[in-house]
Amino acid sequence: MDGVTTPDAASAVLILLGPPGAGKGTQARMLEEELGLVQLSTGDLLRAAVAAGTQAGKAARAVMEAGELVSDEIALAVLKDRLADADVAKGVILDGFPRTTVQAEALDTLLDQSGQRINAAISLEVDDSAMVTRISGRFTCGGCGEGYHDSFKPTEKTGVCDKCGSTDMKRRADDNAETVAARLDAYHTQTAPLIAYYDQKGALERVDAMGAIDDIARELGRIAKHAAA
Ligand code: AMP
Repeated sequence: MDGVTTPDAASAVLILLGPPGAGKGTQARMLEEELGLVQLSTGDLLRAAVAAGTQAGKAARAVMEAGELVSDEIALAVLKDRLADADVAKGVILDGFPRTTVQAEALDTLLDQSGQRINAAISLEVDDSAMVTRISGRFTCGGCGEGYHDSFKPTEKTGVCDKCGSTDMKRRADDNAETVAARLDAYHTQTAPLIAYYDQKGALERVDAMGAIDDIARELGRIAKHAAA
């Protein structure tokens, strides 16, 4: 895009930081397609564990429904499991991890061990007041994972995915007004300190994420290509 060099995605590690509703998942999927990296969402991995009824899933379920963070041990375990898969060698976009200082330090250790580094930690900056509307209107195609929103990104034909034609649309159990307040609180108390953590490392990039999805994607693509080059 825009004549910027394509990154060496072999070991690229990008982190997307931001509160629930900031657009981390949407933007990670767009970057994944554009840069050939793999989106790694601990939220998606945990939801899959809950659905599969694994030990981690059983421990995580009630915590997730309450909008709180699961333990660092569980979050790290699902991350490590996924990092062991061959496809992530292409490089990853971490969406929803790390969420605490303990997780950030554990990630540093993991990357050190494999001779990798964080190319950029990108903070998606948004107004809290807009997050409830953003979150309560969103839904995802169960067929291909494309994200939609009742007001901001509706499907062309009601109930049918524009991308793959599936009619299996899903809304997350924790995407409701009550849980959103707890999730925003968890973000501000436990995750927001990571902005300073990555700033001190010289890895932080800030992006205004209140605008149009495509404009934000363009800016993120530019930063990601530059950081991973
Ligand atoms: P997300 O899909 O990223 O919004 O995550 C959904 C829920 O999964 C969060 O509200 C947490 O309960 C849990 N979760 C996801 N990632 C993490 C993480 N890195 N650490 C702790 N909890 C997490």
